[in-house]
Amino acid sequence: MNQAKSNKIIVSKFGGTSMGDANCIRRSAQVVHKRKARFVVVSATSGTTNQLISLGQMAQNQNWSETESLIKKISDRHLEIAKDLNLSAERLSSLQSTLDEMGSLAKGIYLLRDCSPRILDSLQSIGERLSSILMAQALERAEQSVKWLDAREFILTDDLFSKARPQINEIYERHQSIRKDLQQSTKNIYVTQGYIGATADRITTTLGRGGSDYSAALFAEALDADELEIWTDVTGIATTDPRLVPQARSINEISFKEAAELAVFGAKVLHPSTLLPAMRKNIPTFVGSSFDANTAGTWIRKEVTEAPLVRAMALRKNQVLVTVSTPEMLNAYGFLFQIFKIFNDNQVSIDAITTSEISVSMTLDEGTLQNKKLLAELSAIADVQIESHLSLIALIGNNINHTPGLAKKIFEAISNVNVRMICLGASKHNFCFLVNDEQGPEVIKKLHQTFIESEA
Ligand code: ASP
Ligand code: MG
Repeated sequence: MNQAKSNKIIVSKFGGTSMGDANCIRRSAQVVHKRKARFVVVSATSGTTNQLISLGQMAQNQNWSETESLIKKISDRHLEIAKDLNLSAERLSSLQSTLDEMGSLAKGIYLLRDCSPRILDSLQSIGERLSSILMAQALERAEQSVKWLDAREFILTDDLFSKARPQINEIYERHQSIRKDLQQSTKNIYVTQGYIGATADRITTTLGRGGSDYSAALFAEALDADELEIWTDVTGIATTDPRLVPQARSINEISFKEAAELAVFGAKVLHPSTLLPAMRKNIPTFVGSSFDANTAGTWIRKEVTEAPLVRAMALRKNQVLVTVSTPEMLNAYGFLFQIFKIFNDNQVSIDAITTSEISVSMTLDEGTLQNKKLLAELSAIADVQIESHLSLIALIGNNINHTPGLAKKIFEAISNVNVRMICLGASKHNFCFLVNDEQGPEVIKKLHQTFIESEA
């Protein structure tokens, strides 16, 4: 049994702030060794992805001198970290050729005045490719050999650039030999990039902003890992955003289902898709701070020891409520189908929804309204009303739809607040409602007091 334990496969992911400079990278490498992780996935150094996106835009806008100075800035920062970490000659030369590739891509964008999502994905991939080379160096020690992998050979995706979708079965196949190696020996430690993948034609793709967590979970799934660790700059998942409520505290343990709801409803700690692969394979997932690895973080598991009614709460700002109604639909069928088909055709996701016989109200991110086609198509079949400047408040916990008196307790705590829409019943794990943007923070404070601080 001990044998099996020492052979545990732990996949460990480090976010941008954990890769911020040479000290951060060294500290993260120590966390890897201390936890005996054997497969490491990294984000770009903090801020680099944003810079690469600006770089693409500057080049496309023909600002070559600005473009050049940003190229220099990104290069200098990485070369400085490389120096500090004492990069081997071989790694330095891969770092340099990756930097050269950044320059060439920028030049190409400049010359063609084209920074399409496809090109931008290639440009962004530079960030993770650079940081993973730096991490490989920091992981070096006598007893293990460090293997650097190009994630694009493993994470096969479709060609939806900037939001590419991974092809799970093929990804599993591609990990066969590494899986075997990790099962049989602890000699090698692997390091690779989060966020990036490639199509079957080997064109670079990205999985969507913040997608390194998702990548790490995909690797964990493909490696049949025992554990997944997500290292960031906060000590785990908090009961709510500590910037809103200083009394917020870190949660020790939370179920996959609750954590997934929390991620979707606005907690910034985890990318919302991250948990899907971990859930599929039932891989316990830890979220902690690489800056303070000794402080406990949050474990996300299928089975948890405690199931409190309200475990956490989240606020999602800039929501709009779209109400679609038509009296013609009274006693008719097919209305919901038509509406959802329009959302489906426009690839827009709806968050919370309530319906009555002749109308449907849905919350969407404000940005969605830029999709004029969506609104035009909805208006063609029904009357459409839009209310904006709303915040979605979500309470996450257990047995929420079967607990008598919960709604009363919530609305008593915030009796001075105008509540716009309530969504209760569909999920055991979530209760959500809409309030005005200005009142959102106050609502969260009061509910945190009522349900979390007073229960502590
Ligand atoms: N570097 C990417 C981003 O900033 C992916 C990630 O950090 O998860 O979005
Ligand atoms: Mg990140």
